[in-house]
Amino acid sequence: MVEETGVRQRLVFDENIVKNGEAVEINNNEETTCPNKNGLHKEHQSIWEVLDYENLPEWLRDNEYLKSNHRPIVQNYAACFRSIFKLHSETGNIWTHLIGCLIFVAIAAYFWVNTEGHVSLHDKLVFLAFFASAILCLGLSTLFHTVCCHSAEVFVLFRKLDYLGIAVMIIGSMIPMVYYWFYCETIPKLVYISMIVVLGSVVIYVTLSPIFGQNNYRHLRAIVFASMSFTILIPATHYALTHGIYRLHLDRFDLFLLMGFLYIFGAVVYTTRIPERFFPGKCDIWLHSHQLFHLLVVLGAITHYIQAYEMATHRLNGHMKCSN
Ligand SMILES: [Zn+2]
Repeated sequence: MVEETGVRQRLVFDENIVKNGEAVEINNNEETTCPNKNGLHKEHQSIWEVLDYENLPEWLRDNEYLKSNHRPIVQNYAACFRSIFKLHSETGNIWTHLIGCLIFVAIAAYFWVNTEGHVSLHDKLVFLAFFASAILCLGLSTLFHTVCCHSAEVFVLFRKLDYLGIAVMIIGSMIPMVYYWFYCETIPKLVYISMIVVLGSVVIYVTLSPIFGQNNYRHLRAIVFASMSFTILIPATHYALTHGIYRLHLDRFDLFLLMGFLYIFGAVVYTTRIPERFFPGKCDIWLHSHQLFHLLVVLGAITHYIQAYEMATHRLNGHMKCSN
C-alpha cells in the first residue's frame, strides 16, 4: 500500500522523474536534482502519473480540498493536449468549456448562414460580437486548463488570458441587451455602449495586473467581475422606467433573471468551493466547484443567447418600428 502510494506520487518521464514539483533525473540508479526543468527530454513527457495535492509545486496549488489526481508539471504542449483525454482534476474543467465553445461555434455558424436578408448589418454585428466574446472566453479557458501544468510562466500567461476572456464575454453579453432595449433611441444606446466599453477596458486592465491572478485573490476576482456585470442594472432600470414593466415582460425578463441567477450562483460556487469543502478528496475528478462554475457559465451564456435572440426577433419582425 505504501509502495503503491509512492508510485502514484511519481511522475515517470522515461528515464526522468518529477517529484514534489522538482525535476529529478535518474542516472545509473542515482537521483540527481535537475533545477532547470527545460533539461528534461520533452519528447518523453507523455507518460505520467497523477500527484497528490501536497506534491504539487506552489504555483499549481489552488484548491486544498482536491486531495489527489492532479497532473504534474508536463513541459510539453503536445503532452498537455493529450492530457485532455485522461482523467485528472482538470479533465472536467477542460471539457465543460471545450464543449461550450463548440456549441457557440455551431450556433454562430447557423445564425450566420440562416439570417434572413432584412436583418441589418448592425444587428448581425451585435450578435457576432456576442458569439465572438463567448467563443473567446470559453476557448481561452479551455486553453488555460489544458496547458496550466506546463510551467509557472505558461500558467501565469494563460491565467491572464483566461480572465481576459471573462471580461470580454461580460462586455460582449451586455452590448446586445443595451442595443435592443434602446433599439430606436440612438443617444442612450451610444451612451450605455460607451459606458460598457470604458468599464470593460478598466476591468481588462485590472485583470492583467500580477496581483489579480494570485490564487488567494479569488474573492477579489469574483467581486470585480460581478460588479462589472451588475452595471447592466443601470440601463435596465432606465429602460423599465421609460418603457414600462410590460416591455420587460415582452423582452423575456424572466430569461434575463435566470441568466443572472446562473452567473451569480456560479460565482458563489467558485468562491466558496462547494461541494468539495464538505467532501475533501471526494470531488477530485468530477463535480468540484470549478467544474460546476464552468457548467453554470455555459448555461448562463446559452440562456442569454435565447433571450437576446427573442428580443431581436421581436424587433426585426416589425413589432417595434422605429419612427426615424
Ligand atoms: Zn476555469
